[in-house]
Amino acid sequence: MLNLILFGPPGSGKGTQAEKLIEKYGIMHISTGDLFRYEMGNNTPLGLKAKEYMAKGELVPDEVTIGMLKNKVNSNPDAAGIIFDGFPRTIAQAKALDEFLQEKGMEVTALVALDVPEAELVARLLNRGKSSGRADDNDESIIRNRISVYKSETAQVFDYYSISGKSRLIPGVGTVDEIFNRLATAIDEAC
Ligand code: ADP
Repeated sequence: MLNLILFGPPGSGKGTQAEKLIEKYGIMHISTGDLFRYEMGNNTPLGLKAKEYMAKGELVPDEVTIGMLKNKVNSNPDAAGIIFDGFPRTIAQAKALDEFLQEKGMEVTALVALDVPEAELVARLLNRGKSSGRADDNDESIIRNRISVYKSETAQVFDYYSISGKSRLIPGVGTVDEIFNRLATAIDEAC
């Protein structure tokens, strides 16, 4: 069972690489950002709650996010493995994920982090904003806030999984295929 955390700041290319990883490894993809956007699109209570935070580039509270993630995993019991994209984003989420997987006799196989310079992240997100329809990609101050939240609340998750030797840092600049090959090499080494 391959349980992979696809990690990195906003704009580092997680979504793009996730699509290729699904194809290569035949595993399920869970993006908490996509799940929130789906709920928002349907105006569910969860979506309305998430919108308050996402619009500002803040994190949705842990209890909301963790509950949603667990539901998604539990409703796919036959998955051959999972790519966690955009989760965990706090140490509390990481601990909750570890406990949850442990209860099922599983564990995180590896965390692969895409490393991209900040100026490049901002440029990519502003560019994505032209076509993504995402309000949080259209405003440079919201983008900068997301990057600062990443540094203050999320980056530590890399160190948390380093303790058990599971974290790998992958240069995230280059062509999509070059980056994908680096990821696949790191993943194959880890499992
Ligand atoms: P990006 O990686 O470009 O920021 P995402 O789609 O992963 O895009 O996330 C968009 C927004 O959704 C985040 O800014 C945050 O508000 C919310 N979100 C997504 N995942 C989480 C999470 N694990 N914990 C808290 N909030 C989250």
